[in-house]
Amino acid sequence: ALKAGIVGLPNVGKSTLFNAITQAGAESANYPFCTIDPNVGVVEVPDERLQKLTEIVTPNRVVPTAFEFVDIAGLVKGASKGEGLGNKFLAHIREVDAIVHVVRCFVDENITHVSGKVDPLGDIETINLELILADLDSVEKKIERSRKNMKGGNKQYAAEIECLEKVKEALYNDKPARSVELTDEEKLILRDLHLLTMKPVLYAANVSEAEAANSDGNPYVQMVRDFAAGEGAEVVPISARVEMEIAELETDEEKAMFIEELGLSESGLNRLIKAAYKLLGLYTYFTAGVQEVRAWTIRKGMKAPQAAGVIHTDFERGFIRAEVVSYDDLAAAGSMAVARERGQLRLEGKEYVVNDGDVMHFRFNV
Ligand code: GDP
Repeated sequence: ALKAGIVGLPNVGKSTLFNAITQAGAESANYPFCTIDPNVGVVEVPDERLQKLTEIVTPNRVVPTAFEFVDIAGLVKGASKGEGLGNKFLAHIREVDAIVHVVRCFVDENITHVSGKVDPLGDIETINLELILADLDSVEKKIERSRKNMKGGNKQYAAEIECLEKVKEALYNDKPARSVELTDEEKLILRDLHLLTMKPVLYAANVSEAEAANSDGNPYVQMVRDFAAGEGAEVVPISARVEMEIAELETDEEKAMFIEELGLSESGLNRLIKAAYKLLGLYTYFTAGVQEVRAWTIRKGMKAPQAAGVIHTDFERGFIRAEVVSYDDLAAAGSMAVARERGQLRLEGKEYVVNDGDVMHFRFNV
């Protein structure tokens, strides 16, 4: 499964947020394929469309799709030099698909800030610099290896070196590798390096409880927004403490009431999950039978057999075809039968590229 890693300096609220994530955590019985690890929190991806599908199909149960967050604590200044177990943490970041960078935007005299004052841009810079230095190290080592290989008379390494030099130049100028425009071939060259600054990032601006519903007046959030806009990155203002309080409530009704009292339209955690999902370019398709209505995560661009493989490898291997209706058509039709009458139920084959919101029924050989 795809994962987002939570990073940030100490005392910015990472653990608080991660605890809220694990408390809110999904029933593991539904997600046996998810990682079992104390540093991984499995959450359900909120999707309003499931509600409507449930009304249409009235199944025995409804299962949202899941997403994993990894707690990567301990990233400090000097991590790229191996200080404070830093390298171990960088290795953990290598394994995630996206980064959620938590930035402290709340003011609280009682909670020490590592650099002595609330300074979100300074914090972002500190973390980014460690990631950039670690990448610089990887890129330089790779350049050295490629040079040696080229001396053996092998010309193919010239293009590789050229690409690596381009990335090195950006890193030297404090720019992340993802800011470099690359051809598909160049992306392939870099893929095995698993560069940290190549991973997509979103910023979670941790604000005070009072600002949970509206943080427009918080100048730090504004600074983070301006910075992120320059990178084309998204910012999710969130109050980690409030999320923890929501997560601790027992029932969904209590949660909904508390969220409304706070003046929020939905929990910050839900907004964060949706933003991370979007950041990774993920799509959701549905299966809708009387037993179960369920959402499944795929990568944008996946073809029908691969999408079927997310449910079970047998579905992919034995794929024959899929019956597909788009969510919008089905919701408008109000029932499978009406959608069928309207000719909105399509038969699709192996080359069909699955769309977000497709309701799929697979036919396969066992
Ligand atoms: P981490 O080191 O980044 O994991 O940070 P923690 O989650 O342990 O938080 C550090 C301290 O900041 C803890 O005492 C939290 O209770 C506190 N904290 C986290 N979020 C907020 C917040 O929104 N407002 C205030 N006042 N304190 C917070």
